[in-house]
Amino acid sequence: MSTIALTDLEHPDVRPLSGSGHGIRRHNRNRVLRALRDEKTASRADLARLTGLTRPTISDVVKNLLTDGVVIEDGQSQSTRPGKPAVMLRLAHDASLVITIDLSNAAHVRAALCTPDGQILQEITTPTGSDAVADVLALTAKLVASAVRPLIGVGVGIPAETWSSSDTAAGLALIDRLSCALRAETGAAVHVTNVADLAALAEHRFGRAGEFLLVRLGERTSTALHLGQGERARATARELAHIVIHEEMPDAAPLCACGRIGCIHSWLAPAALAPQTHSSTHAREASTDTTSTAAARHLGAALAPIAAALDLHRVVISDPDGIVDNDFCADVAGVLRSALALPHSTEIDVEASTLGSAAVLRGAAAYVVGAELGVR
Ligand SMILES: [Zn+2]
Repeated sequence: MSTIALTDLEHPDVRPLSGSGHGIRRHNRNRVLRALRDEKTASRADLARLTGLTRPTISDVVKNLLTDGVVIEDGQSQSTRPGKPAVMLRLAHDASLVITIDLSNAAHVRAALCTPDGQILQEITTPTGSDAVADVLALTAKLVASAVRPLIGVGVGIPAETWSSSDTAAGLALIDRLSCALRAETGAAVHVTNVADLAALAEHRFGRAGEFLLVRLGERTSTALHLGQGERARATARELAHIVIHEEMPDAAPLCACGRIGCIHSWLAPAALAPQTHSSTHAREASTDTTSTAAARHLGAALAPIAAALDLHRVVISDPDGIVDNDFCADVAGVLRSALALPHSTEIDVEASTLGSAAVLRGAAAYVVGAELGVR
């Protein structure tokens, strides 16, 4: 479990925090915060026992933490020992903030100030300029200026192709530059991960529970698998974009940005899907095989082996552009059902996420809180 986290609850630029100097005071403060993180609730006497610090030191540290709003009083101890019941303390997850950044769209950068439970308090967007890191820093500086509570950390979602880029050196260099710059800007811990994983985490936390395969549409098509619950939950994302399903005549298949013909992403790219799914009902009915149904068929075919191997019959489509509709989901479900040769009684559940374009920003908040405070 990460222990860097708690040192980062104290960032003087976000708000002047008392007792957040360096050296022993800072060290003591972090020991108390870690004890509270691990114990959930503790009295001042418990904290003295757990940390080995003296009672006067604990009183001093706790006083500062209460003043900063990082810790709150939470009722009285249930101890049956004689004397006045002790006041219990806990970390105030709701009294701190997370900055989250979504780089999934090449055209613009989005950033938000979120509560630790994933509510977006403020969101700002800027068109992407020549330097993505500079854009991110400009938005972050604005959010830091308006944050009135301590920062838990910063979460950044980057596209799957940057994450698992064949050009690994460039991908890693970007992640490294972003992390260092954001760390310097905010003084907080920075977590960079891939947008499909964050969309899956958001779906798990704020959308639907249970196990599912998430397909992230947008600039590239990728998948994330969400298995398990609570502490054991995990998501692993992979890029699906350049899988080619050889089913169509080559002339019917679209050209992909990668230069090949018929990649899954060339069927599912927003530009390919949007004109068809947004066309009138009449136009849809008039066409026997729209781009949308062809795209659904290709997606279903690409997902079938994954769904079969994992015996997983739930697919969530994370669609930041709001393009896919019920017909598309039903088409994908139909392909899966026939590819898996499932009996009619087996439910196949394919649906668009209700989180829309906020999925990555909210998922990043959940990711940072999980990594930094161990709260899932
Ligand atoms: Zn391709």
